[in-house]
Amino acid sequence: MKEACGVFAVYAPGRVVSHLTFDGLYALQHRGQESAGMAVSDGSLVTVLKDMGLVASVFDERKLSGLSGHLAIGHTRYSTHGKSDWMNAQPIYLSSPMIPGGFAMAHNGNLTNTEELADRAGMLPGIGLADSGVVAELILQHHVVDPTLSSVDLTPTLSKVLPWVEGAYSLVFLDANRVYGIRDPNGFRPLCIGRLGPEEAPEGWVFASESPALDVVGATYVREVAPGELVTADADGLHSIQLLPAAVERLCIFEFVYFARPDSILHGKEIHGTRRRMGELLAAQSPVKADLVMGVPDSGVPAAEGFARASGIPYGQGLVKNRYIGRTFIAPDQTSRANGVRRKLNPLRENIAGKRLVVVDDSIVRGTTTKAIVQMLRDSGAAEVHLRISSPPFKWPCYYGIDTPNRDELLAANSTIEEIRQFLGADSIGYISLANLRLAVGKTDEGLCDACLTGTYPVPVKLRGADAVATSDVTATKVPTLLAQGAE
Ligand code: SF4
Repeated sequence: MKEACGVFAVYAPGRVVSHLTFDGLYALQHRGQESAGMAVSDGSLVTVLKDMGLVASVFDERKLSGLSGHLAIGHTRYSTHGKSDWMNAQPIYLSSPMIPGGFAMAHNGNLTNTEELADRAGMLPGIGLADSGVVAELILQHHVVDPTLSSVDLTPTLSKVLPWVEGAYSLVFLDANRVYGIRDPNGFRPLCIGRLGPEEAPEGWVFASESPALDVVGATYVREVAPGELVTADADGLHSIQLLPAAVERLCIFEFVYFARPDSILHGKEIHGTRRRMGELLAAQSPVKADLVMGVPDSGVPAAEGFARASGIPYGQGLVKNRYIGRTFIAPDQTSRANGVRRKLNPLRENIAGKRLVVVDDSIVRGTTTKAIVQMLRDSGAAEVHLRISSPPFKWPCYYGIDTPNRDELLAANSTIEEIRQFLGADSIGYISLANLRLAVGKTDEGLCDACLTGTYPVPVKLRGADAVATSDVTATKVPTLLAQGAE
């Protein structure tokens, strides 16, 4: 699985916002490594710079010094279905005589009615535009000019256009004078608010996909943007309206398992502690006699710590990760993917040889990586390899902003647990139950999306040329034909 975009916005007169945005995007690099960009406004002129590549390769001191202003938005992208090319890099910038200075937009998520929106915008089908581009076009076409307002304000336009938009989105916008942040009514993707300066005299405001991007720019975490809430920051401070009626919250459960950084705050708790709790519950649920617990770096490590603590089995490091592997490399086939594992992970043979190992990882998607890891550990002399996975079997594709393979490539969609164990070559395998995962996250009832584990899609996805289908109609045979194009 790949993450699928990070967004950042800052309003901070007197600060060098291009540098703040660079640092914020750098902290969000794990959410997207294909392209990076930012848009900066000085109150009249919006300047956009974006390119393919990592944040540090797109921007340097010379480029940042040319981006002057007091407000900015930024984006890191990993494409899911939309093409990975410059045209789809973000922020998207559009302008018209009705919107002096224009506006810029950056998106994390994936829309489920892109074709319907493209029809509404009068756009030709199949021209390869990502869903974000369609929303930007609709905002341009349907811009509402409020004669009572002295400057451009996108709020009336957003309240007209966003009710047409379905699916997952955390969006940030910028016009000449203000920045905006909004989450979809289900809140699939995270977005939080930070304050620059003291509470009694704020010097600026920051919106970011994850809280470490606030930390790195010296902002104080304030709160999450609520589902359906529009928050704006301008010369008059911070403003909030409930732009769209909030639905049941469906924050992606995999933000807790894998996507978010361990130092991120979600639902008021640090992710690292939540992952450790997953490991503790997994140890109680799937105990095993062993000599060493090890995590698959990086996201399997906190759950391994929790497993070790709860089971009393010593924790140790068994694999070393090469941190300098470019994450943009996508192996074209299964064989080169397996070779890619050796490039990325190498065993610590003295820790492994002769030991019965508990190997904790966050998820199994195709199984190729896990199979290669098990083989690598056996080749290094492991006596036994017991896999423990801190998410339930991954059986359904994601249509809300995460890159997953089709259902026929998902190992758990097509195999029993025993078949999975045999395929991976492990001595035993145990997945955390959905109930225990929810317990670790602290949401035992609602509040989370778990569609890729259960097949219950909270927002209907749409079939090409068909009306919306109810969740229960999304079957194994229909899923591969679902329309979910242009993901960000
Ligand atoms: S389907 Fe899975 S990966 Fe996608 S948003 Fe829902 S929980 Fe997250």
